[in-house]
Amino acid sequence: MCAALAYVRPEKLDEALEFLEEHGGETAVVAGGTDAMVDLRSGALQTGYLLDVSRLSELKGIAIHGDELWVGAGVTLSEIYSSETLARFAPALQKAAFTFGSKQIRNTATIGGNVVNASPSADTMPPLIIHEARVVLVSSNGERTVPVEAMSTGPYKSSIHPDEVITRFILKPYKGMFADFQKIARRKALAISRMSMAVMAEKDETGKIMFMRLALGSSTPTPRRMEDVEAFLLGNRPDRALLWEAGQVLAEKMVEITGRRPSTVYKEKAAQGLFMRMLYPLV
Ligand SMILES: Cc1cc2nc3c(=O)[nH]c(=O)nc-3n(C[C@H](O)[C@H](O)[C@H](O)COP(=O)(O)OP(=O)(O)OC[C@H]3O[C@@H](n4cnc5c(N)ncnc54)[C@H](O)[C@@H]3O)c2cc1C
Repeated sequence: MCAALAYVRPEKLDEALEFLEEHGGETAVVAGGTDAMVDLRSGALQTGYLLDVSRLSELKGIAIHGDELWVGAGVTLSEIYSSETLARFAPALQKAAFTFGSKQIRNTATIGGNVVNASPSADTMPPLIIHEARVVLVSSNGERTVPVEAMSTGPYKSSIHPDEVITRFILKPYKGMFADFQKIARRKALAISRMSMAVMAEKDETGKIMFMRLALGSSTPTPRRMEDVEAFLLGNRPDRALLWEAGQVLAEKMVEITGRRPSTVYKEKAAQGLFMRMLYPLV
């Protein structure tokens, strides 16, 4: 590690990758800095170089490409908040931005930073999971693509390699289905989620659920898709009683993953209640 902290801000992706090839092990990538600066100040992050990727045009933009929705890793939460494309093709992701931090935080915080920081409470994760997002990672050795769930290997542990940068997320876009994001926090604003959920669902002409994606955040070591709950509901006509039972399946699965903790008594009920609140429009 070098003696003093050095700051580097490349204008091109190639320059950034070259720098990481040489100094990856002693460099922290920084985008909006809303997590990295906190860690730097507290001493949790110790590094020789800060590589600022905020000027890289390859990390920007939100657009439909064929049947894919591309969201640049350097897209800020404010850009997600105000994107007409996301309002149409990823409304749950946009809704997550509505309750994310404060305006100042949203103006600099990026979706890439939110994913790499690997907090169990990262608000963009449940929406990205229901869109079966794939993450495009590049280094001077080439490109690889991984499912977004694979980015977090545990609380605050990312699977990204030291010489890699995320350029974009590739989402499956959905149109006209029921979609939502809900979260519970200690306060109504500027609070880290205690529990979050995202859903996308569609009923057939007989009223039965024919498609469902459900993801849970802040309640398990890493945000995850809840396939057992999806399977429980698929092929059924949702009514109040069925949703309440499905909420119980969700709570049981959550406890199976985390084990019982002091907060479980609250979280079991909260999971069932939040699930009910989110899915009730389907009844
Ligand atoms: C007051 C406050 C409120 C907050 N509220 C919320 C909230 O409501 N919900 C929530 O989920 N989070 C919240 N956060 C956390 C934080 O704002 C987010 O995690 C944010 O999205 C991080 O993005 P960033 O661009 O600031 O990341 P940075 O701090 O720049 O980086 C975070 C991590 O990601 C890495 N990184 C960033 N971009 C890339 C890239 N393109 N390729 C490779 N690695 C990269 C960095 O190396 C670092 O490890 C809050 C933080 C604060 C300080």
